[in-house]
Amino acid sequence: MTDSPAVQAMHFKAETRKLLEILAHSLYTEREIFLRELISNASDALTRLDFEMLTNHDVLDAETPLEIRLLPDPENHMLVVKDTGLGMTAEELAENLGTIARSGAEAFVQAAGDNRQNLGDVIGQFGVGFYSAFMVAEEIRVVSRSYRKDAAAAVWTSRGEETFTIEPAEKTDRGTEIRIKLKEDAVEFAETWRLREIIKKHSDFIGFPIYIGEEGEQVNRQTALWRQNPRQVQEGEYHEFFKQLTLEMEPPLTYAHMVVDAPVQMYAALFVPASSERALFSLRREPGLKLYSRKILIQNFCKDLLPTYLGFVQGVVDSEDLPLNVSRESVQSNRVMAQLKKLVTAKVMDMLKALAKDKPEQYAIFWKGFGRMLKEGVATEAAEVEGLYPLLRFPTTTRPGELVSLDAYVDAMKPAQKHIYYILGEDERSIQHSPHLDAFRKSGVEVLVLTDPMDNFMLLRLTKYLDYELVNVAAANADLPPVEAGEKAEPEGETLPEETRAALIERIKGVLGERVTDVRPTDRLSDSPARLVDPDGSPDQSIQRVYRLLNKDFEVPKKVLEINPAHPIVVGLGKLSADDPRGALLVEQMYEDALLIEGLHPDPAAMISRIQQIMQAALK
Ligand code: ADP
Ligand code: MG
Repeated sequence: MTDSPAVQAMHFKAETRKLLEILAHSLYTEREIFLRELISNASDALTRLDFEMLTNHDVLDAETPLEIRLLPDPENHMLVVKDTGLGMTAEELAENLGTIARSGAEAFVQAAGDNRQNLGDVIGQFGVGFYSAFMVAEEIRVVSRSYRKDAAAAVWTSRGEETFTIEPAEKTDRGTEIRIKLKEDAVEFAETWRLREIIKKHSDFIGFPIYIGEEGEQVNRQTALWRQNPRQVQEGEYHEFFKQLTLEMEPPLTYAHMVVDAPVQMYAALFVPASSERALFSLRREPGLKLYSRKILIQNFCKDLLPTYLGFVQGVVDSEDLPLNVSRESVQSNRVMAQLKKLVTAKVMDMLKALAKDKPEQYAIFWKGFGRMLKEGVATEAAEVEGLYPLLRFPTTTRPGELVSLDAYVDAMKPAQKHIYYILGEDERSIQHSPHLDAFRKSGVEVLVLTDPMDNFMLLRLTKYLDYELVNVAAANADLPPVEAGEKAEPEGETLPEETRAALIERIKGVLGERVTDVRPTDRLSDSPARLVDPDGSPDQSIQRVYRLLNKDFEVPKKVLEINPAHPIVVGLGKLSADDPRGALLVEQMYEDALLIEGLHPDPAAMISRIQQIMQAALK
């Protein structure tokens, strides 16, 4: 045969060759996924034909049913996967299965590296598609005939090595047959029971019937679950559908089924995944919902049905009102789309609210995975972000280990409290020691702890909730929490007398020089000797952080050092004689402690030699 002039031998693209080499020698235990890939290709080919037939009635075998058929032949170690989809011409066979560089292949080869054992991760991530069949095949022949009436049938043949051939073939009906000669150790894939098992597991919801054998009955359930009456669908069925839709292992945290007649007709099945981490084989490669019109897939990852911040939602939207003859590109400019987006968005918001209310533990899982996206939504979305506010959750100073909503915060406010307080910082633990919290620790007023960089962006928009302004406790002139009657404890110990204050402040200024813009006393501290605050008129702390995140060269403005005249260290410093060398040491240390607690210290370890000097002085 090889010397027949009609046979063309061709070389695979370099990265495809490498990919094939890895697959052929892989010890990957879940080889069965090759069938999922072939069935998914068959289903794509059927969908595309379906789509073509909406506008073109001149296709080959227009009456042939759209179906997928597996023909196993255990005696001869053969498996044929056959579809009546749009088929391929000789040129398309060569291109699609050999000469076109596949975007995923190179990334796959790199990620696979020398690790042949854990190929699973890599296969899942890149979806190696058709070539995965070489994990089980000694040789593959793809016989195909295009739906175009004037195209001839052709066959592509390869053993998964360097080359493949294309030659004319005998095939009179439309579609594609993947004929696999199974490897010795893969003959299980010619057993009907095994194929049935794999289809049930991976391809149950494929939208076309899958048969085994020429006479066999349909194996997959093929239901458009979203078109069923919600009352007749069990929770387990939704979970199963979600798993096959996304190939996630975990069931969804929550789901919703919509059947709407007005203002537009639509069906939808919407799911919130349990984690932002994708499972091994996950199909969640991009955000977006599957968009169908009358059961025909229009778009796989449609991003125009939800705002970006809800991009984690998985599922299917199907509307009879979408004009079918629109091209996939013009879908987004369609008027019906805007209505669908509104309905779907409202439903997802309800779903999240219900989850938060009815299943707080589940909501905490959701928040961990996707909370940041909601905050991003608050920061970036132009309209109606207030709807997101009740969904936000934060750690706070008074309820360790809990995530607190703004509503729960407001409920726990002290009677005379007028604001919602927050503190910004790098990590939750060091914030607990912040001098800015002195007054709050004392009065038991709760403070939201904001450590996520996204919080800073969120605060650009979220400045008020209900009637309460959000107030940063680190602002020099922030309204302090009210002191409850009876709690107003006067400082117990000694206070730095007025007359020595000015002198001490001058000394501190002398030591710190340019490093601070001012030094002044404050009555807002109790446990801490000093703190750093922004000079009046500087940009808000969260805005400074935003600048810093967006621009590495942004310099934090110099701060004001506020000292606590009632703190023993400050009192003691005031008593030192002007020429006592310990004075400068202690001032330096006090300043650097304040820097450290603000997360602004450039080099904490550099403090050690001074701390040792202070220790020596203490021992004298
Ligand atoms: P993907 O499905 O991600 O595009 P595959 O490796 O699975 O990648 O398939 C490569 C291409 O080969 C497909 O994009 C399609 O054009 C073509 N193809 C594969 N199987 C079929 C089939 N059964 N019918 C028609 N075309 C197919
Ligand atoms: Mg594919």
